Amino acid sequence: MSSIMPTYKRLPAQFVRGQGAWLYDARGEAYLDALTGIAVTGLGHCHPAVSEALATQAQTLMHCSNLYQIPAQEVLAENLCRIAGMDAVFFGNSGAEANEAAIKLARLYGHQKGIESPSIIVLEHSFHGRTMATLSATGNAAVQKGFEPLVPGFIRVPAGDIEAIAALASNTNIVAVLAEPVQGEGGVRRLSNDYLHGLRQHCDSNDWLLMFDEVQSGNGRVGTYFAYLNLNLKPDVVTTAKGLGNGVPIGACLAQGKAAKVLGAGNHGSTYGGNPLASAAAMAVITTIEQDNLTQRVPVIRQLISQSLYQYSHAAKDLIKTDSGQGLMLGFVMQQDCKELVSLALEQKLLINVTAGNVIRLLPALTLSDDEATLIGERLARVIDTYAQQLKG
Ligand SMILES: *Cc1c(COP(=O)(O)O)cnc(C)c1O
Repeated sequence: MSSIMPTYKRLPAQFVRGQGAWLYDARGEAYLDALTGIAVTGLGHCHPAVSEALATQAQTLMHCSNLYQIPAQEVLAENLCRIAGMDAVFFGNSGAEANEAAIKLARLYGHQKGIESPSIIVLEHSFHGRTMATLSATGNAAVQKGFEPLVPGFIRVPAGDIEAIAALASNTNIVAVLAEPVQGEGGVRRLSNDYLHGLRQHCDSNDWLLMFDEVQSGNGRVGTYFAYLNLNLKPDVVTTAKGLGNGVPIGACLAQGKAAKVLGAGNHGSTYGGNPLASAAAMAVITTIEQDNLTQRVPVIRQLISQSLYQYSHAAKDLIKTDSGQGLMLGFVMQQDCKELVSLALEQKLLINVTAGNVIRLLPALTLSDDEATLIGERLARVIDTYAQQLKG
């Protein structure tokens, strides 16, 4: 029926308008959004600061090519680098493109050191995107199946196992480690601080680049602008996208120190990357996050959701093994596979996601009111109790 390639299993809902935490269908029914387009609209739908910046920029200049200097991109780069503690940034249009830039940077870093066949260490349960290089880096066979031959040059190890990293020290082809500090698609798993510090140490002693994929965990979502910012360590490269544009496509690959000096003229490029329109939107996002102190709300909102869930649900304590993730990458790890919950939640006018089979994934906005956060927990409680009854019946 549809003229769109059926690459998505779509739910029977369509939204025509959004405001804050709410999405509305054509009949005006309101849905409470605990997913924000998968960690994209972190400021809520149609945040006025972003809409105004976009409207103004749309009437001024939308695009002019990276053949020329772009003041809006310069301002964004300067501010992102200041917040991230990085020296330089390359802009693309998505998370996968940000990671492609990081992968190319790491390979070129290797070649500049005389390594002809550079390899990058990646983790099990990771997700880095759907382009050929990023799906090859991804630790999920379902994402790769049917698209072989994969891009070579990735060595996969179990996540959280620092011995597996240590065991690779003698491999002289390795140039970098690529990891999500909080794995999203792979099951909302937070890598331990000890492990992340271990990665930094091994990268230092072997002259590898430490590259964090914060496409999902970045932009305030975990309670600091990037997950590493409360760890007392810095990666050499960090990528981000999703929340950076609050719905306007943009991706960024940031680098510091020696990593910031690798890519030169002609090495990489993007037609749209960092164009005036996307740059203006992203600048409005980071200004709002800073001025409204939104990261301080993150633990409060997490706590309110979790608290009201366990308060209102009879079955949650039995069915949920543990809470996982960090900040507003909030996972509830269920005893068993529970994909049905997504449709049950839709019936309750609540938008959620289930990942890795048995992990309820919430990625709500940082701008939720206390009441909205509590309501998410309340509605999720009803969903889980309905599910528990179906399991019995
Ligand atoms: C979503 C995601 C990507 C891919 O981003 P796209 O914008 O869909 O290309 C990469 N890495 C992580 C950690 C993600 O969550």
